[in-house]
Amino acid sequence: MKNSGSHLMQPSAALKAAPFWRTAFETDKETYPALRHDIDCDIAIIGGGITGLSAALSLSQNHDVVVLEQGSVAEGSSGFSAGILSLATTVDLRVVEQQFGRENAALLYSRLSAAVNRTLGAINLREDALQTGVSIYAAAKASHLPILETERQTRKRYGLSTRFHEKSGLPSFLTSFHGALELEGERAVNPVKLVQAIAKRAADQGCRIFESTPVTHFENSNGLFVLNAGTQTVKSRHLIVATGVRGKAWSPVASINRQLVPVKGDLIVTEPCQEVAKLAQSGTIALWDTYQMLYTYLRYLPDGRILAGGADSPGISAACLLSDKEEGVRRLHAVIQSRHNFKLPPVEHAWRASFSLPADGLPLVKVLSFGEGNDGGNGGEIGGGNGGEIGGSNGSGKLIVASTDGLPSGMLLGEVIANLIEGRHDGLMDMLRHDRKPSLSARLLSLLPNVPALRNTALKMVFFGMRLKDILS
Ligand SMILES: Cc1cc2nc3c(=O)[nH]c(=O)nc-3n(C[C@H](O)[C@H](O)[C@H](O)COP(=O)(O)OP(=O)(O)OC[C@H]3O[C@@H](n4cnc5c(N)ncnc54)[C@H](O)[C@@H]3O)c2cc1C
Repeated sequence: MKNSGSHLMQPSAALKAAPFWRTAFETDKETYPALRHDIDCDIAIIGGGITGLSAALSLSQNHDVVVLEQGSVAEGSSGFSAGILSLATTVDLRVVEQQFGRENAALLYSRLSAAVNRTLGAINLREDALQTGVSIYAAAKASHLPILETERQTRKRYGLSTRFHEKSGLPSFLTSFHGALELEGERAVNPVKLVQAIAKRAADQGCRIFESTPVTHFENSNGLFVLNAGTQTVKSRHLIVATGVRGKAWSPVASINRQLVPVKGDLIVTEPCQEVAKLAQSGTIALWDTYQMLYTYLRYLPDGRILAGGADSPGISAACLLSDKEEGVRRLHAVIQSRHNFKLPPVEHAWRASFSLPADGLPLVKVLSFGEGNDGGNGGEIGGGNGGEIGGSNGSGKLIVASTDGLPSGMLLGEVIANLIEGRHDGLMDMLRHDRKPSLSARLLSLLPNVPALRNTALKMVFFGMRLKDILS
């Protein structure tokens, strides 16, 4: 049976009546049952996005794992993303260097890269769902050329090669840029297929996945987690909360949410055209520009469509389809048209979705330990101090809350979570723990009021200021 996103809000005048990633590639989707009876397991995971399912993939090799998803697999941010797997946009090596030093930045980069390779190796995505090739990072203004040079130097320090093109040497289809860096070995995916394939692999390893199963409450009683999912109960020794931007503000999650900027973005997909098909077939898969808040990113899809997004704004929106009358849709089409020297085809699909952006861009992980006889309460925070072993194998149940921006980080979090559950030291935890040394932007974020409406207004003002800076730069 096929399922095309039962929780999707339908606006009045959708261009196409179903989400692009599902309609364009829907072939052999697995569906999973809703939970209809009480169950016990070693590890319960709330959330069937890239983070929850990557954890399920790692853990279900050795444990009895259950995933509970309120809608269907990949129905959160993961399945509505642009699907670009670029590590360059996932972590800003300069920011990590400044905060944690070069050695840690190198460790993070290599772990991210290994996590993506291992995940793609484990699931064997079909060719029509995985693109590999070159990405272009282009200077939107002549005054942005130093940004490219800094990026080139940074990447060089980590052994990553880039190729710089002067304005005169840019690919002929790009008309408005002032120079660009070419990044090799880049990848992009159909994100729905990616997450569905991870789910299928985890299920093949014995993981039990339940869709249409919202968790409404959980508590720890005598060392066991007790979860309410409708009228059913799930009991587990460990619990992982990977509920993304639209998860409930349960108390252990709230302190993480305070460190995140909820962001909503619009994406458009055009009808196919030959020029784009040629570009994609020649290996150019993605392009993004140097603006900080007015940025645009796009993909050249193999069948000749352009997918584009950018200039995200603060706030949370349920994933919804957009009409071509929507200001964001028209603006995106106009921006990408202004960047190409051939006439782009009209928009065929458009949607809006949200994700969470940590202030310093790094994933956030919170670990609480619950021993037997520890009834209710919030559990003991573990891993205090600097670099101490987190979650040693003391037999206690663990509650892990994980949140991130980016598909590659979601895959990495799956491995980090598995290490924590299995009592192994993970060298990344100094950087990923939720109470890490805060960056300047994280400190400023923590000063914003804790009232959602006020916080959103304050964030809008910050975004407005950064956009002004983009215009004046
Ligand atoms: C427009 C857009 C473009 C993007 N483009 C890219 C890109 O090109 N490359 C990239 O790397 N990243 C991109 N991202 C970011 C990326 O999609 C997210 O950072 C990532 O998918 C987050 O994954 P997650 O598993 O943490 O959250 P989600 O994918 O949101 O998963 C959380 C899941 O938990 C479920 N859930 C929530 N509450 C409950 C509950 N109470 N009970 C049961 N289930 C629950 C939700 O239904 C959801 O399925 C983009 C995001 C958006 C919105």
